[in-house]
Amino acid sequence: MLTAIVGINWGDEGKGRMVDLLSENYDIVVRYQGGNNAGHTVVNDKGKFILNLLPSGILRDKTVNVMGAGMVIDVEHLFGEVKKLRDAGIEITPDHLKISDRATICMPYHKLLDILEEDRLAGKKFGSTRRGIAPVYSDKFMKKTIRMGDLLHPETLATKVADILEWKNLLVHNGYGHEAIKAEDMIKWLESFGMPFKDYICNTSKFLNDSVEAGKAIMFEAQLGALRDIDFGIYPYTSSSNTIAAYAPIGAGIPSRKLDQSIGIIKAYSSCVGEGPFTCELFGEEGNALREAGGEYGAATGRPRRVGGFDVVASKYGVEVQGSDSLALTKMDVLSYLDKIPVCVAYNVNGVETKEFPMGDALTIAKPVYEYFDGWKCDISGCKKKEELPKNAIDYINYIEKTMKCPIKYVSVGAERDQYIEMY
Ligand code: GDP
Ligand code: MG
Repeated sequence: MLTAIVGINWGDEGKGRMVDLLSENYDIVVRYQGGNNAGHTVVNDKGKFILNLLPSGILRDKTVNVMGAGMVIDVEHLFGEVKKLRDAGIEITPDHLKISDRATICMPYHKLLDILEEDRLAGKKFGSTRRGIAPVYSDKFMKKTIRMGDLLHPETLATKVADILEWKNLLVHNGYGHEAIKAEDMIKWLESFGMPFKDYICNTSKFLNDSVEAGKAIMFEAQLGALRDIDFGIYPYTSSSNTIAAYAPIGAGIPSRKLDQSIGIIKAYSSCVGEGPFTCELFGEEGNALREAGGEYGAATGRPRRVGGFDVVASKYGVEVQGSDSLALTKMDVLSYLDKIPVCVAYNVNGVETKEFPMGDALTIAKPVYEYFDGWKCDISGCKKKEELPKNAIDYINYIEKTMKCPIKYVSVGAERDQYIEMY
């Protein structure tokens, strides 16, 4: 069984939480794209964890976790993340963490360039997490990066780094006027933070292919959501990789394999970190109350997230590009305080109402068309069965299921592992 767990919206739908829950039935969890700009929160019997690079299956003893070929890895960050988990008593060994030799290393100068460029843009900034993601993916496509597998060949590493820096300093030094990056500093950095992972680096494609042949169940964990996909999202306010399920086998390193199912994680309301068009955005009192109720502050950056009602137009588009077979609706409990639940049912573009997700300038000028649903006004965070949910909550779930044209298999009513309802 090959399953992708992906975000339907702008990210932060609760993917980490759902991967942690559903990974019980999987042998392997693979992260297939992105880097430490991800923030996946997992709360279970072992504590509360925020994972940036490690797959969310890392908290289960028997699950093998793979950091796939499509990832960009800041090894210093990984070093810190592993240490934090070890300090909390989580065991991390090469037996249950494997890093693709094809994955790209996000170097300190990628982070530096991210910061230099965001600062240069000032008021026109993209809202980057400033963790080097766009610069490192650009370099990957320029074919001028160091990959994890290069750490296994120390005899040629210094030359590779020096050759890349010859080019990179044209931008860092001659372009931005920053002090040039020194090759020896980069080698030292790789030795301090990359080399400790030497035994974790391997041909994960072979490992995964062998595992498929052996009948193992594999889960692919996405970072961010459909609307942040580099090709299908709200470009240029997207991430720099493909977040969609179709990319999962590629980013994981097994492009010849087909997914058996794609589970979309969809949030009962909307949230969005950073800049860019966010049509359903709610402001003032209404927005503040929702942000507080949902605790909407970035897991990776601590930034307050922008919030809005459930967005039928954007979510329907998200379900389509993700090719979702079923959905998990998260954070339903957050809406319990509302008398009337706001839902963005359509967009108005230049006076014309549409339910089709627009792109480019049409998206920038789109205005939300809101309708209000009756709230349920009671605590649902302890509900374990569909029958225990109030009627208005069921009506709301049914409405989303009908408009998304996709079955909602799970409803999450709290951040803890067991706070969910299986609907079918
Ligand atoms: P991810 O990036 O998609 O993994 O999501 P994040 O971890 O960034 O954001 C989701 C936040 O909501 C985290 O703080 C979770 O602990 C929390 N969370 C997840 N599901 C639920 C839920 O059903 N109810 C509530 N109240 N919180 C949830
Ligand atoms: Mg997140």
